[in-house]
Amino acid sequence: CGIVGYVGHRSALDVVLDGLRRLEYRGYDSAGVAVLDGEGGLAVERRAGRLSNLETRLDEVGRGTFAGTAGMGHTRWATHGAPVDRNSHPHRDVTGRVAVVHNGIIENFAALRAELEAVGVEMTSDTDSETAAHLIARAYDEGDTKGDLVASVRAVVRRLEGAFTLVVTHAEQPDLVVAARRSSPLVVGVGEGETFVASDVSAFIEHTREAVELGQDQVVVIDRDGYTVTDFDGREAVAKPFTVNWDL
Ligand code: GLU
Repeated sequence: CGIVGYVGHRSALDVVLDGLRRLEYRGYDSAGVAVLDGEGGLAVERRAGRLSNLETRLDEVGRGTFAGTAGMGHTRWATHGAPVDRNSHPHRDVTGRVAVVHNGIIENFAALRAELEAVGVEMTSDTDSETAAHLIARAYDEGDTKGDLVASVRAVVRRLEGAFTLVVTHAEQPDLVVAARRSSPLVVGVGEGETFVASDVSAFIEHTREAVELGQDQVVVIDRDGYTVTDFDGREAVAKPFTVNWDL
């Protein structure tokens, strides 16, 4: 439902929680965050219910566990699987290095799930979204996409049917966040020494009004210096920059 991703110089947890709060008006049933600590750690927490449930949980765990300047968050509107903690996003692969948040529906998830289960992957949720986390982690570990997160995301989204916005982090790539879209909204926010991705500009409008609207079947990689857009095959692509000049 609502998505925020961030790479910059501030606390990613604060930026992401603020962004999710600004997307609350869309409605949701669960919320979650992932933060890269810059030293190979990827901290994830998610909870069914209001954002305040998630925040209470973050206080219990200790917000110090979520120190870092890159991360992402999600508010879920369940389509596959009940609105319970384990179906909340972010979803991780079996090694816990890849985290994924997803808006929309992956129509061919049953086939992808069967394929993953056939090679011994145990699913931990009832969602369509979790399949993307496992597929991306596996692409990152093998073949010609090995060690390349953007290429791994491209290889996987080419296989997905349906409508999706995906945002992906990898513990071994602590300075970047990758996002992809098909028939579901995704905008980039370009700040000074910080870059955002979101399902809606209202998530980052308090930080920057320089935005870029991604086109159909595009992938964007953001870091603190900016963004790069390609199509699902890796060819350079053109996205549409605009300035948000209305008040929210
Ligand atoms: N289909 C996904 C799920 O049920 C994502 C739903 C959403 O867009 O929030 O978890």
